[in-house]
Amino acid sequence: MITAYKYKLRPNKSQAHQIDGWLNLLRMQYNYRLAERINWYESTRCPVNSCSLVSCSIAEIVEQPDYYWQKRDLLNTKKLFPEYGKIHSQVLQDCIVRVKKSFDRYLSADKSGKRSGKPRFKGRGRYRSFTYPQMKQDCIQNNRITLPKIGKVKIVLHRPVPDGFKIKTAQVIKNADGYYLILTLQDNSVPTISPDVNLDKSVGIDMGLKDFLITSDGESVPIPQFARKSEKRKKLLNKSVSRKKKGSSRRRKAVNKLSKHHQKTARQRKDFHYKTAKQLLDKYDVVGFEDLNIKGLAKTRMSKSILDAGWGEFLSILQTKAVNAGLMAIAVNPNGTSQNCSSCGTHVPKTIADRWHSCPSCGLELDRDVNAAINIKNIAVGRTVIKAQDMPVRVASPLAKPPLWG
Ligand SMILES: [Zn+2]
Repeated sequence: MITAYKYKLRPNKSQAHQIDGWLNLLRMQYNYRLAERINWYESTRCPVNSCSLVSCSIAEIVEQPDYYWQKRDLLNTKKLFPEYGKIHSQVLQDCIVRVKKSFDRYLSADKSGKRSGKPRFKGRGRYRSFTYPQMKQDCIQNNRITLPKIGKVKIVLHRPVPDGFKIKTAQVIKNADGYYLILTLQDNSVPTISPDVNLDKSVGIDMGLKDFLITSDGESVPIPQFARKSEKRKKLLNKSVSRKKKGSSRRRKAVNKLSKHHQKTARQRKDFHYKTAKQLLDKYDVVGFEDLNIKGLAKTRMSKSILDAGWGEFLSILQTKAVNAGLMAIAVNPNGTSQNCSSCGTHVPKTIADRWHSCPSCGLELDRDVNAAINIKNIAVGRTVIKAQDMPVRVASPLAKPPLWG
């Protein structure tokens, strides 16, 4: 299992200065390497499979600046610009890795089928982190972490690195309110679902826009108040930024205020997600949820509220927490969960506006979302209701052979 812990860093003035300097140099290196790739790509690609000799001259064939070529070329960079020699070599190489990744994602889709747009050059202050791809296991001692070529930096260890985990990588990030460190930790003991998972202690959750979620037991978790409040303040701060002259220090301060606000909202939301996930997993052993296509939904008109509600983040937290506790969070196919009756399986068509489920065949009267949550729970634990019309009809026939076992 791989997990990540985030700690606050408290570098002294000269260390902070060094980190800022590195970030700026890495940013320029990133832009330069990206330009190399884009230039090569644009000068060699041709929309037709034969070159028209009339309208264009054949460009000189240059070696493709791929990952290994660029990595080797770092030697020349260090010769020409000695300040790059002061950056830890693996950190510098990681910059090339980032160029490779963003370019690869532009040219072809990754394994989940996602493809990004053309990579952009990073402006001042837009390159915010660097990574040490290898760390020593004893790098943290007495509230200080030894970062190669930077030295011992004060770290706020609000929780210890868990036992049995190996420190894999360390990433230094500059945020609106200071510096942070993300440690990637690996534990090779594979977690297994504990044998005493009780299938009866199961629940289904239906994610909504009115309420954050509704459980199959009829309990609802409302969307927290801070979301609306922070939206108001965000508008105010945005206005304050746009009123100020570009490049002025008053604008810079306003931008900083805005990004601190974004940070705060993100943290409040994350806290809410963790607490909600904990409440569910304290109470239940199995949680079923709809396997939503969040990216797809985000393209529709409902986008704003979905991104604000942060379902994707919540569901991934829920899954991780369930696995860590030896419990189960099961994604189910959402087809028909809101339309079918949770008691008899009859298809009861509803529009988005219909908030109530009333079944004509079995007479079930229920809130629409609770009905959906019960369906989700049933699918998750494998207790699907067989539709009444799909039941085999028994017709007594004198010609029918008697059953072999009867
Ligand atoms: Zn029914």
